[in-house]
Amino acid sequence: MYNYNNIFPMNNHQETSVLIVGGGPTGLTAALELARHGVNCRVVERRDAPSPFSRAVGIMPNTMRLLEPSGAAELVKAKSIMASGLEIYVDAEKVFEMPMDRHPDPSVRLFCLPQDETESVLAQRAGELGVGVEYGKRFESLKDDGNRVQATVDGDTSEYDYVLGADGSRSTVRDELGIEAEGFDLDDEWAIADVEAPAWAKKPGLFRVYIQDGGVVVFVIPMSPTRYRIVSNRPEALATLDVKMPIEHLYREGNFLIGIRQVPDYRRGNVFLMGDAAHTHSPVGGRGMNLGIADAAHFAKCYASGRLDQYSDERHQIGADTIAYTEKVRGTVVTPMNRTRQAVLQLLNLGTLIPGVPQKVVKKMVSGEF
Ligand SMILES: Cc1cc2nc3c(=O)[nH]c(=O)nc-3n(C[C@H](O)[C@H](O)[C@H](O)COP(=O)(O)OP(=O)(O)OC[C@H]3O[C@@H](n4cnc5c(N)ncnc54)[C@H](O)[C@@H]3O)c2cc1C
Repeated sequence: MYNYNNIFPMNNHQETSVLIVGGGPTGLTAALELARHGVNCRVVERRDAPSPFSRAVGIMPNTMRLLEPSGAAELVKAKSIMASGLEIYVDAEKVFEMPMDRHPDPSVRLFCLPQDETESVLAQRAGELGVGVEYGKRFESLKDDGNRVQATVDGDTSEYDYVLGADGSRSTVRDELGIEAEGFDLDDEWAIADVEAPAWAKKPGLFRVYIQDGGVVVFVIPMSPTRYRIVSNRPEALATLDVKMPIEHLYREGNFLIGIRQVPDYRRGNVFLMGDAAHTHSPVGGRGMNLGIADAAHFAKCYASGRLDQYSDERHQIGADTIAYTEKVRGTVVTPMNRTRQAVLQLLNLGTLIPGVPQKVVKKMVSGEF
């Protein structure tokens, strides 16, 4: 079993020190990618142990490409299942189906793995490269004198060249910088339930979308050959699904609120923001974790190529585009309207949203060409 208190590496960037606040997917990717570039990092996480909960499931092709050089992609592939297809139902009647594993480019595939397992892979590879997560350590405050940053963790203050705020949507690092995540919160509660339902598995890796009365949309997302995530745009996910699902075990269920927010700047002095600390949006399209991983990998790339001054602008633009896009899709998905029209619009959106479902093909399906 991996020792989470691994010692820090001696390496060719030993003189540079980076404090990474947060041991979620963003902080772990930052640790992994910086370690790969030989940077001396420290990761502090306020939780006492890795989180047992999964939020994100889908791992996008671009994320797999970013995780390839470290070997994490290979481990993810070995543990996950590949999305095999998509079915859309209107009033419990199937109106659309298509494969998601036939794209001519074999790298265009969507992999499904509970977030805690993705985090465990990232932590394992970071540990093997010499960076362990320090659990039970809370970042408290920082002071940047323009040259180095003094940061206090659990009452102890040390100096670092850079501090990375990968500490989630309620980021203390962001608060310390006095930066506001601008935007708004959605009024409606959404809900998830993770269930074991082996008899439901006609075909492993199948995504299903149920469009129901009054703008209710329920997504059934594969997490393993027998485990599913049900996401609803109404509270109480299981109660909203209007088809019978033979559930053998309920792992967890809960409602959550969504903020559509982004900070105006991902950098202040020697402190950088990334992941949910920098942006949050709706889970439609499953982009949050993927975006955070990409922020972190991009930071390491900018660091290694001496382009840290470009990190904020480049990632801000991509974050803003993602928010605009997921909001457009959310608008289509949740707006009550003629359900056939809603299904068609949803298909067009899903065509661009889900890897392995080429937009061209979706347009042809919708227009009845095949
Ligand atoms: C229900 C739901 C479903 C989702 N589904 C998807 C999906 O399918 N695909 C997808 O890509 N995304 C999805 N997301 C979003 C995804 O979970 C997040 O975007 C992702 O977890 C962000 O990672 P992060 O590392 O930036 O932040 P987090 O995962 O929040 O990690 C931040 C870490 O920082 C730690 N921390 C906080 N403050 C401190 C401190 N002061 N000191 C030390 N440590 C601290 C926290 O304990 C936490 O572990 C979903 C989210 C939800 C709520």
